[in-house]
Amino acid sequence: MGRVENKIALVTGAAQGLGAATAHLLADEGASVVLTDINAAGAAEYAAVINSTGPDVLNWEEIDVPDPGEGEARIRHSAIGLNFIDIYHRTGLYPVELPTGLGSEAAGVVEAVGKDDSGMKAGDRVVYAGGSADAYAEIRNVSTSQVVPIPDGITDELAAAVFLKGLTAWYLLRRSYPVQEGDTILLYAAAGGVGSLASQWARHLGATVIGVVSTDEKGELARAQGCEHIVMADDADLPKTVRDFTGGEGVAAVYDSVGRDTFIASLDCLRPHGTMVTFGNSSGPVDPVAPAELAKRGSLYLTRPILFHFIDTRDRLLRASKELFDVVANGAVNIRIGQTYALKDAALAHRDLEARKTTGSTVLLP
Ligand code: NDP
Repeated sequence: MGRVENKIALVTGAAQGLGAATAHLLADEGASVVLTDINAAGAAEYAAVINSTGPDVLNWEEIDVPDPGEGEARIRHSAIGLNFIDIYHRTGLYPVELPTGLGSEAAGVVEAVGKDDSGMKAGDRVVYAGGSADAYAEIRNVSTSQVVPIPDGITDELAAAVFLKGLTAWYLLRRSYPVQEGDTILLYAAAGGVGSLASQWARHLGATVIGVVSTDEKGELARAQGCEHIVMADDADLPKTVRDFTGGEGVAAVYDSVGRDTFIASLDCLRPHGTMVTFGNSSGPVDPVAPAELAKRGSLYLTRPILFHFIDTRDRLLRASKELFDVVANGAVNIRIGQTYALKDAALAHRDLEARKTTGSTVLLP
């Protein structure tokens, strides 16, 4: 028999009718970013907000979770990782078929497994990243091919805090531009989720890390996590400041998650043959760029990677996870949960992440 549980879902467009009178409109939100606060009464209640610009309603809805199908496990979530990609899904920057849930990573306990030869069983503690955006839920079915056991010594909350972001740090530093001992690199959002993990990991690999942050407080955090130099995000001549830290040469690689606002300045920070890794859009997607921009700055390399292309087979996922859990276990990378929210307060968590108010990883608790 299936289970009736709760999840957060997005619905589109005009008023949903049901329960519209209970809608919680956020007066302080702009037209493109409107979320409902989750109805405190819990399951089977509805709220509706009209917005003309795409996914615009975060609802707490009752869902019917069927028994796990072939190759699936039913997981009861105990901690859900908040990621910037959830915002891209919600705003429509990354198109999703509506209605949809939200959320790309969670940790929890396996309740049941469908016909499957993975060896997974009820009671296993597991974590996953990717698949359909349905992690903001108390319970769901996931393909066992995406699910990884949580090692002893790592709590469910820490697993949800580190998995997607830590795998991202892994491929950035080990695949997109493999950091060499002695390299100097530039890393944006150095006190954020991915940034906190990547700065520690890069230092562990022998790099000198220059971290970009927006506040002094974040600068202190970034330093404590391995950034040797800090650059403020509003630095009027960021490339010069960065070059000064490298004796004028420029850095070996830039890991830029900000996107539109920083792209050109980031190219200007690179040494000849340096690598630009543009991997996020927190300020918006990067505008089209002419290849000549790379030539004239010293035959640069440019890549725009996505995590899921680096963990696209079971074998690659397990190898990456092992590397990640190893650097956590040996103390090279500490997981810092900067804040937690009740899952029902996901709207607030989104607003804080977008407003640059969070540090480290953020975990939603069902
Ligand atoms: P973070 O915790 O790093 O939060 C985002 C941070 O980005 C903010 O705290 C802020 O730090 C900085 N920032 C700079 N400009 C803006 C802006 N205009 N609006 C909001 N924040 C801004 O989030 P995540 O760790 O979840 O993700 C970090 C980035 O990595 C995102 O861009 C995400 O898309 C990307 N990512 C990409 C993946 C991929 O495979 N391509 C996988 C996972 C994440 P500060 O105030 O210090 O500047």
